[in-house]
Amino acid sequence: MKDPTRAIRLESWLVSAGREREPGAPLNVPPVPASNFVLGGGREYARDDGTPTWEALEKVVGGLEGGDAVAFASGMAAIAAVFDQIVAGSVVALPDDCYQGVAGLAEAGQAKERWTVKRIALDDTDAWLRACEYADLIWLESPSNPLLMIADLEAICAAPRKHGAILAVDNTFATPLNQRPLELGANVSVQSATKLIGGHSDLLAGVATTKAPKLWMALKKARELAGATPGTLEAFLAVRGARTMALRLERAQQTAMLLAARLEAHPQVTRTRYPGLASHPTHEIARRQLRGFGTIISFDVRGDADAANAVCAYLGLIQHATSLGAVESTIERRAAIPGQEHLPPSLLRLSVGIEDVEDLWADLDQALRRTVSEPSVASTPQEA
Ligand SMILES: *Cc1c(COP(=O)(O)O)cnc(C)c1O
Repeated sequence: MKDPTRAIRLESWLVSAGREREPGAPLNVPPVPASNFVLGGGREYARDDGTPTWEALEKVVGGLEGGDAVAFASGMAAIAAVFDQIVAGSVVALPDDCYQGVAGLAEAGQAKERWTVKRIALDDTDAWLRACEYADLIWLESPSNPLLMIADLEAICAAPRKHGAILAVDNTFATPLNQRPLELGANVSVQSATKLIGGHSDLLAGVATTKAPKLWMALKKARELAGATPGTLEAFLAVRGARTMALRLERAQQTAMLLAARLEAHPQVTRTRYPGLASHPTHEIARRQLRGFGTIISFDVRGDADAANAVCAYLGLIQHATSLGAVESTIERRAAIPGQEHLPPSLLRLSVGIEDVEDLWADLDQALRRTVSEPSVASTPQEA
C-alpha cells in the first residue's frame, strides 16, 4: 500500500519509522523510563506530556493509519478513551459480532444509563447507514472477532452522520497494512497493539489514531485523566514488533489462506470462516476492501464442544491459548469465553503464526483425525 504523501511504500517506511536522525543517536528510540523531566523543555510530567518512547510508537502507528496517534496501556484503554468522548444519553451502534471486551464496556455503560446500545449485523449495510443518522458513536469492527464478518466500510464511512457523531473502527484484525479506515472517512481507528503490531505475545498496548486535532487532544486528555498510559518497555517492544509486521503479516496470511482452504475440505470440519474463501458470506466486500484477508480463521469442528476441546488438546505445534496476532499459532474454543456462549459450541478460532504451513497442517490434520478415532478422551476440559 502506498501512502500518497510518501515516496516509499508503508512496508519500507515502517522499518525505520520514528527513527532519530541526529548523528550519534541510537538507530531506535530506546526505552526512556521517566515520570518527570527537567523543566523548561516543554515536557514536564509523563502522564500529561508523554515520553520519547511512547511518541516513537505513536509516530509508527500514526504513520501507518494515516493520522495522529495516542498510545495507551492496552487496546481496551484506547477503546475506553473513545467511548469516553460521548455524552450522557447517547446511542452507541455496535456490531452483533465484536470483541467481547468492547461489548462488555458498551453493556456496562448502558447498565449505568450512560448510553443505549443498538446491536447491528455487520453485513446489514442499510442498518449501519441508518445508524449513521441517529447514533452518536458508530463502532465498527471489521473483520470482526470471531466470525470475521466484513462491514462495507467504504459505504458506511462515507455516509452523512449525525452532527458530532464519532465513527470508530477497530482495525486490530486487519492492521493498517490491510485497511486504512481514516482514508475512508472514519473519525478514529483503534489498534490493540497487543496483537499484530507487538506480534510476540509479550506486551499489552493500544493505539487510537485520528486526523482531527480536536479529537486527538480529547483522546490524549482522556488518557491523562484515566492514567491509561502505556508502559515504557511495552511501547519500546511494540515499535520493535512493528518493524517486522509487514513480513509476519504477509507470511501468516499466505499460510492462513492455504489452511482455510484445506480446513474447508476436511471431513472433520463442518464450516470454515475466512474472508479469503469464496464461501465466506462477505467475501466480495473483503476482496474489494482488504489488501489481505488476515491471519485469523474460525472453523467448526464436527461434533460438540468436547470434540473441539479434544482438537485443542491433541494439537502439538499450535498453542492452546487465547489472544492472536503473534509469531506463534494459537487456538481456542471461543464459546468457552464468558460472554461468548452464543457462538457455535465447536467453533475454534485459529490465529495463524509464522511457522511452516505444512507443519501447521500436519498438526491440525492429526488432531482432527484423532478426535474422531478417540472420542472418549475428548471430554478432557481444557479451558481454564
Ligand atoms: C484484543 C482485542 C482488543 C483489546 O485489546 P487489549 O490490548 O487486549 O486491551 C480489542 N479489539 C480487538 C479486535 C481485539 O482483538
